[in-house]
Amino acid sequence: LTSFTDEARIALDTITGRAATMFSPSLRLGVTGLSRAGKTVFITALVHNLIHGGRLPLFEAYKSGRIARSRLEEQPDDAVPRFQYEDHVAALVEARTWPDSTRAISELRLTIEYESASAWSRMFSAGKLSVDIVDYPGEWLLDLPLLAKSFRDFSREAVELSALPVRAELAAEWRKLAAGTDPDATADEMTARRLAEAFANYLKACKHDERALSTLPPGRFLMPGDLDGSPALTFSPLPLKEGAAARPGSLHAMMERRYEAYKTHVIKPFFREHVARLDRQIVLVDALQALNAGPWALADLERALGEILACFRIGRGGFFSDLFAHRIDRILIAATKADHLHHESHDRLQAIVRRIADGAVKRADFTGATVDVLAMAAVRATREGTVRQGREELPVIIGTPLAGERIGDETFDGKTETAVFPGDLPGKAEAVFETAGDVAVENAIRFVRFRPPKLERTAEGITLSLPHIRLDRALQFLLGDRLA
Ligand code: GDP
Repeated sequence: LTSFTDEARIALDTITGRAATMFSPSLRLGVTGLSRAGKTVFITALVHNLIHGGRLPLFEAYKSGRIARSRLEEQPDDAVPRFQYEDHVAALVEARTWPDSTRAISELRLTIEYESASAWSRMFSAGKLSVDIVDYPGEWLLDLPLLAKSFRDFSREAVELSALPVRAELAAEWRKLAAGTDPDATADEMTARRLAEAFANYLKACKHDERALSTLPPGRFLMPGDLDGSPALTFSPLPLKEGAAARPGSLHAMMERRYEAYKTHVIKPFFREHVARLDRQIVLVDALQALNAGPWALADLERALGEILACFRIGRGGFFSDLFAHRIDRILIAATKADHLHHESHDRLQAIVRRIADGAVKRADFTGATVDVLAMAAVRATREGTVRQGREELPVIIGTPLAGERIGDETFDGKTETAVFPGDLPGKAEAVFETAGDVAVENAIRFVRFRPPKLERTAEGITLSLPHIRLDRALQFLLGDRLA
């Protein structure tokens, strides 16, 4: 009888365990993009709008009044830093400054209590969805291809790339150091450090170069997170002689060991513990910056996006499949900061992003998830108006440019509201991709950065939540079906 009871108890526990996950389902939403793409601002705006009664007419569950309440809860992963939502809101709303950007992985749990639209589901579901938002640098995703590369391949490619005309100058210091180093010499920590620093400086210089050069791995050299200065990051590719194996105790052997350690202790756990567990993903891109830099930068954005999408490509067997037991079923590629344009250009921006995304999907040979694109502003820092010029009424955007921003001869103080003529995007998306050498298209949009907006108050004295453009569309695509 005892054993029967035990078995019954175990069975019951299993059932209630299953029921618990069935009745309080969760969804892991990844938020990524290269640095400055707008991840921090997006997450903060998303949560603020859901908690503070945002205006979200295109988010169906919310519009129809089925969402009873959204609140922050303790996150399930104790070892991951929490996304510092409160600090970011204080910066945006109180100080009207942009919050500190993403530098490492962080997480936040938002729980939505809702009423299902169908009577059938209402009977079985408590109507609670926990959304675990995972914020992480897009730079880290670009490390995935390293898993398939030996130290020798990695070194050869790095040396070849650094010799290309566009990069040679930026890589000069590292190339000189590497050329003067004998890989077979006895390992020495100072040499390793100097080479690693010079290599990291070269990668950072590529990232900040105005020619918008593609981002090269190792991703942690650009965004070290909590690994700054650790031995796993103190390595560098070396100019190796064809075929020469590493002599034990040599610099070559030391660098090879650290490179392998980086793969084992940094890249693999990141993919296994974080990326592989995601259900949905939003990839933010700074399309306006690329538009400004010209067709070359747009092509580069497409390439980087292709590499990012390749990380979510699953079920192909082979090298990465053991990392991905799970699958992402929806990916949203979103250009944020659309508030720098007049609304007439929003669809045009979206068409441009669609072209970039289509190219990236093709390039990554990507299938398996629904991919959509969107032009939005997580936080709308401007409003629209018109300015009379002669007989014409011209559309403008009005906002407070950040202190130090300039238009022509005028430098702003960060306090004065100003009307700005936004750039016009061409009606045909094709036009911006047409290459005129490396020169940016002539009507490229020049934009100033604005301060975050002052929150509006209603006649009853209620402060509204952060204004946005099409954030509700993003929510509908990412969460809508799970709240049906
Ligand atoms: P992250 O590196 O991806 O976390 O990027 P952030 O979210 O910190 O955004 C980088 C910068 O882009 C911010 O400091 C803002 O200047 C700007 N930005 C981001 N989102 C928006 C937006 O929706 N509207 C406007 N006007 N600027 C934005």
